[in-house]
Amino acid sequence: MLSCPECQKEIKLPEKCKKGDIFECENCGAELEIISVDPQKVEIILEEK
Ligand SMILES: [Zn+2]
Repeated sequence: MLSCPECQKEIKLPEKCKKGDIFECENCGAELEIISVDPQKVEIILEEK
């Protein structure tokens, strides 16, 4: 199971995802980058402001 680094809820990667893809956590809206697909790993994208 993969969980969101921000809210710790379970997240499901898009079916045809690949390394480097960016998607949004459905629960908290955090932007996540797929850093690895096997094993599945995601990293939160921190916005610099
Ligand atoms: Zn989240």
